[in-house]
Amino acid sequence: MPDVRARYPELIRLRPGHPPVIVGQVCQACGRRSFPPDPYGCEACGATADRLTPTELVATGVIHAVATVHRHHHPRPETPFTVATIVLDDGITLKGVLQGDPATATVGARVRAVTVPWDTAEDGAEVVDLRFEVDPAGGH
Ligand SMILES: [Zn+2]
Repeated sequence: MPDVRARYPELIRLRPGHPPVIVGQVCQACGRRSFPPDPYGCEACGATADRLTPTELVATGVIHAVATVHRHHHPRPETPFTVATIVLDDGITLKGVLQGDPATATVGARVRAVTVPWDTAEDGAEVVDLRFEVDPAGGH
């Protein structure tokens, strides 16, 4: 079985047989969690970046807003695709690309992180990227 790695390994951790994990930060001074990692410091209390440590975020949440992208300046993902503002169950808001039937991607729908094939690395490893899909068991 080929090696599998994330397109952005500093942001995504992969474990065989488990959903991908999103890596955020937690402030050791005030406990605020954030994503993506902030190179400067804590937005809440002003602690310096050395007080921010990696933390794993629950990669499930709810769609807060959704939009379809018809044109953008990169060849991939191929248009049209759907982007969503997602509020993770950890309370952190991020943007993600959705996969699956866009008709199911409605505000309030539960989503979960998945990986999709992205590329093959020079050493033959499979590179995967993060997507979110509507959780068929999630309901509203
Ligand atoms: Zn803080």
